[in-house]
Amino acid sequence: MATIFTKIINREIPCHLVHEDAHTIAFLDIGPLSDGHVLVVPKEEREFLHQLSDESAAALGRAVARVSRALVEELGCTAYNILQNNGADAHQAVPHVHFHVIPKAPDGRGLGIQWKPGAIDHAAGAALCARLSKRMKPQVGDP
Ligand code: 5GP
Repeated sequence: MATIFTKIINREIPCHLVHEDAHTIAFLDIGPLSDGHVLVVPKEEREFLHQLSDESAAALGRAVARVSRALVEELGCTAYNILQNNGADAHQAVPHVHFHVIPKAPDGRGLGIQWKPGAIDHAAGAALCARLSKRMKPQVGDP
């Protein structure tokens, strides 16, 4: 499942590179919502976050935090959003896992969010948690 991001990883097309390690690459988004909008991408080719290996997911989490730290230090931004879309219905345009790191600019540019909270059903929530917990199988290497 090669996408445009595989071409960037393989240097078949150019990017503004921020960071690269054995498992991840980070580069500027070509259509930034604000200055410093970075994409952090695993080299493992998977469409959805839940399909990633634990090793790749852990490296990705580390890279997202490090890129965020670099942006805060360099831009002096005091707020930023992390966005990660899974599936076309969730606005995923490139079917290769990626995290957006989007600084909030002083003029307000950045990620716009529509958030329409409901009210939790505590009984249904407790039942769901019990079912989910059973699916959280311990993995080799867990702390
Ligand atoms: P998604 O909607 O899949 O979460 O976001 C995909 C992002 O990839 C978009 O923000 C888009 O601007 C960015 N993008 C798509 N093609 C390229 C490209 O060739 N180079 C770079 N740097 N970013 C891209």
